[in-house]
Amino acid sequence: MGLIKTVGLTKTYNGTNAVDGIDLSIKEGVCTALLGPNGAGKTTTLNMLTGLINATSGTISFDDRYMGDRRKYIGYLPQYPKFYGWMTGEEYIIFSGQLAGLTKKEALSRSDELLSLVGLSEDKKKRVSGYSGGMKQRLGIAQSLIHSPKLLILDEPVSALDPIGRREVLELMKTLKEKTSILFSTHVLHDAEEICEEIFIIKKGKLIIEGDLVELQRKYQKPTIYLNTE
Ligand code: ATP
Repeated sequence: MGLIKTVGLTKTYNGTNAVDGIDLSIKEGVCTALLGPNGAGKTTTLNMLTGLINATSGTISFDDRYMGDRRKYIGYLPQYPKFYGWMTGEEYIIFSGQLAGLTKKEALSRSDELLSLVGLSEDKKKRVSGYSGGMKQRLGIAQSLIHSPKLLILDEPVSALDPIGRREVLELMKTLKEKTSILFSTHVLHDAEEICEEIFIIKKGKLIIEGDLVELQRKYQKPTIYLNTE
């Protein structure tokens, strides 16, 4: 099986299905996009996968091979990450590392490694409050990689960014996908086309299209049509 498989995943709020019977299969070693317009149920789906909220019904299974240390399974960057702006980038990653169980020495060395990976080495002594949106997202990605997760889940990592920040984060994701599997949500098809191999399109809580992006592009020729249909 893939890294995560869901069957009939459903979340109901006040009698309405925010996520409505979704079957997902997230493969290892690829980048997968969860695409859908505002309110489609992307965040709700990711929150169930990460265990932040419980599903109303349906099942989520994880690959048995990685169940030895479940904490290492997923790294998650929520849509609106909160940072301690008065800390420097380095302090923030060291603090996060210690929260994840590393010793101070281990956290320091991991922080050097991760801040270099996300291109923040030169800014690591600056306060996070002075970081641009793109730098904050890259710091958040570094934080979610602390425990070397099998799967990195990013909820709309570029939607709130200006063009420069957006480009920085997309390029970083392209680098990261060589090292870890990525699942990210977006409402922009172009972002998915640029970096993903697999795509799941959801609308009003239901899965409407899924599969290999290249095959879908061939099949639909003008892929944007499947997002714009009401
Ligand atoms: P966006 O791109 O705007 O973040 P999304 O695809 O992530 O959208 P969700 O945030 O998952 O969508 O929301 C899906 C639906 O579920 C929406 O109609 C939303 O109002 C509803 N919803 C989400 N969380 C709750 C909640 N805690 N209580 C009630 N309704 C909720």
